[in-house]
Amino acid sequence: MAPETPTPSTLPKAELHVHIEGALEPELTFDRARRNGIALPYAGVEDLRGRYDFSDLQSFLDLYYTGMNVLRQAEDFTALADDYLARAARQGVRHAEIFFDPQAHTTRGVSLGTVLDGLEASLSSSRERFGVSTGLIACFLRDRGPEEAERMLDELLEHSHRIIGVGLDSAELGHPPADFANVFARAREAGLHLVAHAGEEGPAEYVWQALDVLGVERVDHGIRAIDDEELVKRLARDRMPLTVCPLSNVRLRCVDTLSQHCLPRLVDAGVRTTINSDDPSYFGGHVGDNFEAIEHELGFGVPELRELALNSVEAAFLSESERDRLRGEVHSG
Ligand SMILES: [Zn+2]
Repeated sequence: MAPETPTPSTLPKAELHVHIEGALEPELTFDRARRNGIALPYAGVEDLRGRYDFSDLQSFLDLYYTGMNVLRQAEDFTALADDYLARAARQGVRHAEIFFDPQAHTTRGVSLGTVLDGLEASLSSSRERFGVSTGLIACFLRDRGPEEAERMLDELLEHSHRIIGVGLDSAELGHPPADFANVFARAREAGLHLVAHAGEEGPAEYVWQALDVLGVERVDHGIRAIDDEELVKRLARDRMPLTVCPLSNVRLRCVDTLSQHCLPRLVDAGVRTTINSDDPSYFGGHVGDNFEAIEHELGFGVPELRELALNSVEAAFLSESERDRLRGEVHSG
């Protein structure tokens, strides 16, 4: 139940950039490891939590892929999604477009069907149980290359009614969006929405490629766009949404401190920015925690925070009636 006067963290909002595998809390990691008879290389929950001190994207990804190895059965994915949705709902999330990484599971012998069955068992009743509507976006692991992505897309298209779109994530440097031009063209033809991580650690050039080569409808992160004045103008002119993840950017050392984050400059330039958690269990909080952090560290006031929440509703892949309903909730929340 939402409090009568929402705080910045409980303001109604949509979350558009959250990796479900990144919502795996240490407690659930140990719980699932026990159920699946998997030995973990950690002394316990606190030991694991203590290792969440990353130097860059790659050092995070190493731990991330070790952790998700406890996800074997459909019910593991159901428990993971339930845990995320319960936490997100407490932080004002009313709609979540949730990323998952099919290749991170299929390459270790867990089928796409198992992953989808498990996630859907949670998401199908998330509106009733948590007050959160949902959609799934399958991301390609860019560091595994375009050929494997093509094969993954073949498989995804057999389940295309179960996802709303495709994305591109994982280690960015050296893996430009343009490599995936054909994969994204095929996904578009199949009627799927398109998003891609670009300009997180990679250069502004990767954001141009995401826009002009892949034809994405949202750019995930996109903060390096700030290095390119023409690109910022283009994003603002086209009302192209960026799914910015402030606490993640600090934890992965994309920026040194939150107070140096380019978010205020992007907002001032008229870029449609949204606030998201990315990998909430690893990066110091859910989306509401990110709202609180930018309030405290960057001086965003309630009207600006409400504007960012509204941006998330405008940028979501929703029907117009659903969007209207959510707009109303943000305005009155
Ligand atoms: Zn991400």
